[in-house]
Amino acid sequence: MKYAFTEIFDIPKLTELCESFTRINGTVTALLDLDGNVHIKTGWQPICTQFHRLNEKSAARCLESDTAIANKLAQGEKYNVYQCKNGLVDVAVPIYVGNQHVANFFTGQFLFQPADHSYFHQQAKELGVEIIPYMDALKKVPVFSEDEIKRIMTFLVALAQTIGEMGKARLDLLRLSEAERVQNAALKRKTSELKVAKQALEKLASEDALTGLCNRRYFDKTLSQEILRARRYQHSLVLCLFDVDKFKVINDTYGHGIGDAVLQHISTIVLNSLRKTDTVSRIGGDEFSILFPETENEHIEALLQSICNKIANTQIEINGYQIRVSCSFGTASSEGGNLSERELMERADRALYGAKSEGRNQVMHFSSLLQTTSLLS
Ligand code: GH3
Ligand code: MG
Repeated sequence: MKYAFTEIFDIPKLTELCESFTRINGTVTALLDLDGNVHIKTGWQPICTQFHRLNEKSAARCLESDTAIANKLAQGEKYNVYQCKNGLVDVAVPIYVGNQHVANFFTGQFLFQPADHSYFHQQAKELGVEIIPYMDALKKVPVFSEDEIKRIMTFLVALAQTIGEMGKARLDLLRLSEAERVQNAALKRKTSELKVAKQALEKLASEDALTGLCNRRYFDKTLSQEILRARRYQHSLVLCLFDVDKFKVINDTYGHGIGDAVLQHISTIVLNSLRKTDTVSRIGGDEFSILFPETENEHIEALLQSICNKIANTQIEINGYQIRVSCSFGTASSEGGNLSERELMERADRALYGAKSEGRNQVMHFSSLLQTTSLLS
């Protein structure tokens, strides 16, 4: 059987039951599994515990008797009454869980007739044990009539059957919960696989394939969320749009492939210069955006200027070509969330247009654009 004996049988409860049984009629009980492990033992007679089971010679006979009685049960008997080799009577009842014989329930260590003193006196001498204590222990051995034993056995057979049925119910429950555990584990594994697949899909759906930055779809979603957040907490949000200067020339001069590599290069520079909370996306061909949540424009002016300088000062080496590019940056603040997404985009776009008009390779904020009246028209 896959489960331990003690998992299937409630040994403490059964012990209580056997103890009361012993208290009622003085009979001995024992519950042994088929490996011979004793799980319950109540009311055992001193003649057995202090003499027969201790003395080497008589202990060998105990073992012989136990084995013989268990073998009889293995042959399918309902119960077996056995004259033990040390002169007492033992009775065993098999316990079945389903069709499987798993244990034996014993009673015994009694006599059917008053003890034959000369027989036991002789046995004490043969075993070499002290005669007086041995004969005192013999006096304690109960004498039952065959009728009494039949009544006791009717009870014990029913008890053994009930124990077996309880074991079966417990076994079924254990098997069921194991099946449930296996099913739950499979379900958990599937759920986590699905979660990974979903994350991969989400990443794919929100990533720009060329640069690995966020894509336009993700940017639009994030912008609306950030606008809402800025509005709720009256925080400022800065949106920066930037675009590669004269990118057509790069494509025309070196080819589209190299143009792609330049875009990747710029992406890496920008990404490495930002905090994790800032979202950088490629929103068009050579146009990018950066969202700075909970930020005032003056806090990022220097940062954007340094990114602008870094791009302009980096000599990009691709396929043996030394290429230099620059970008123009336009920024706008959400003014504590008072602007809509469209208004914020428009302002950043106008600032970017301003930076282009002012000679490119620079950062322009929408507020400074307002001062340049010529650009307002
Ligand atoms: P400006 O300074 O005014 O921005 O000049 P520009 O030449 O960069 O003009 P514009 O931004 O309008 O040009 C963008 C170019 O980017 C046009 C298009 O051919 C090119 N482009 C768009 N998508 C890609 C792409 O995925 N890869 C490459 N290599 N080029 C692209
Ligand atoms: Mg451009």
